[in-house]
Amino acid sequence: MAKTSKSKKAADRADEAVETLVRGTGTAAATSDAGDAASDDAKPGTASKGTGKDKDQGTAEQEIARDTAKKSKNDKGKKAKDGKAKDDKAKDDKASKKSKDDDKGKKAKGTRDKKDKGAKREAALDGASSAATTGSLAFGDPDFTFSETLRAERGLVLADVDTRATPGYEGDKKSAAMDLVEGQTELSDLQERLWANGKDGDGPSVLLLVQGMDTSGKGGIMRHVVGATDPGGVKYTAFKAPTPEERAHDFLWRIDRALPDPGQLGVFDRSQYEDVLVVRVNELIPRSEWMRRYAQINAFERAALARGITVVKVMLHISSDEQKARLGERLDRPDKYYKYNPGDIAERARWDDYMEAYQAVLAKTSTKGAPWHVVPADRKWYARLAVQQILLEHLRGLDLEWPAATFDVATEQERLAQT
Ligand code: AMP
Ligand code: MG
Repeated sequence: MAKTSKSKKAADRADEAVETLVRGTGTAAATSDAGDAASDDAKPGTASKGTGKDKDQGTAEQEIARDTAKKSKNDKGKKAKDGKAKDDKAKDDKASKKSKDDDKGKKAKGTRDKKDKGAKREAALDGASSAATTGSLAFGDPDFTFSETLRAERGLVLADVDTRATPGYEGDKKSAAMDLVEGQTELSDLQERLWANGKDGDGPSVLLLVQGMDTSGKGGIMRHVVGATDPGGVKYTAFKAPTPEERAHDFLWRIDRALPDPGQLGVFDRSQYEDVLVVRVNELIPRSEWMRRYAQINAFERAALARGITVVKVMLHISSDEQKARLGERLDRPDKYYKYNPGDIAERARWDDYMEAYQAVLAKTSTKGAPWHVVPADRKWYARLAVQQILLEHLRGLDLEWPAATFDVATEQERLAQT
């Protein structure tokens, strides 16, 4: 596609605006202050492994990565030292907070989690990294949210995220299954409220957008999280390689058509982000073209937000080893063959390129209005609960009341009685 210098300038300006948005400050200063991101200290760090294949971006991203890695390394050392004392204090704080907590909904959960915390926590969490990411709050505390815990803040280094960790959850697989069932009831109720509020043609809607590598568990989210909702109120789309018709339009054309209407829960199984992931990694279009797409996506999502769509973006993050195991299982079990695609091996071979592309997505499109949530997904039970809760937290945030009657109730009761 021909590109004038004018459109390049516009794209650069848009990129600048994006940076500003992500930073959440008024200054569009370049990339040099990347290391002072506020939220990195929650994540345990190891050095990042940007390959710098993509020059401009490599430089900026590597800078963020280096600074963050340095910072989290320091934090890690410090945490190792005072980690235990802190942890004990956190537990005490939590205990006293919990005893005061008379929040009805959460109580059953809190009690259950607390009872068998010690041993199970050890078993479930694979050690210190999770404890470091959870801080002092966990699921069941009134002030805890998965949304905040897993939000991709500026400076997040994907390579530093422990894919087996269960941040903010102190229970195990069994308790998570029970918590998931509890959440399904609330999800069903809130979705009905959402739907009820959309009946008159305006009112909010919610979009749950799920991205992740092959086998990361997107299907499980659809079944176990979205599956608890009323399909009549859901607008679900699984995005595949574009059809000839879709290809004839701009890449956002099919995405726009799939956005939820008022009252609907929109669900994207893959999304517009494939157009800067698989497309970028496989060089399906020139670099100059996909580079512009980050800003285009941000502008698109801003417009969606302005239309009353709450955008909830989730990345299911698995390790390469976990993917290998899951692909192996698909090949071992006849009831899983249908999920296996020989093409998955070719994509798997580009794992590092994909991680670099995901890192770019997080750095460029985790905006204030539509941030990413990076969900460690090597443990399916954790990922499902976390995504469900993130969705619930956003639905709760809409404060959905049942809409008032648009008719006179007494009159209608009388009319009914006369039949
Ligand atoms: P699955 O989700 O396993 O059914 O696979 C869908 C496939 O479609 C994946 O390999 C995606 O990478 C691919 N895909 C989705 N969107 C695009 C796109 N915009 N361009 C090229 N391939 C895509
Ligand atoms: Mg697949």
